[in-house]
Amino acid sequence: MRTKQMMNTLGQRVSWKKYWKIFTLQDFPNVCPFCGLPMSEDEVEGCHIKVKGRLTGELSTKEYIIPGHHECNMQSERPFSAKITLYAVEAIER
Ligand SMILES: [Zn+2]
Repeated sequence: MRTKQMMNTLGQRVSWKKYWKIFTLQDFPNVCPFCGLPMSEDEVEGCHIKVKGRLTGELSTKEYIIPGHHECNMQSERPFSAKITLYAVEAIER
């Protein structure tokens, strides 16, 4: 599990989950983008993903954060197609 913490603009430590919310200004989706099953806010984990280029088919070198189930995050080394449309936030470590 990724337990790394991020700093927000105020220099406070925030989770990847919060980081996604701060940058997207969105609520978490109530469906997991990995499995398409219902997901409550308590179940949400900030998942690191890489994005496949639409034209190149190449995986991005940058990592992005999306909300998803913890169990689904554990399988995130496998390729997947998002079941829902949602924002991915670039993961920037400081
Ligand atoms: Zn899931």
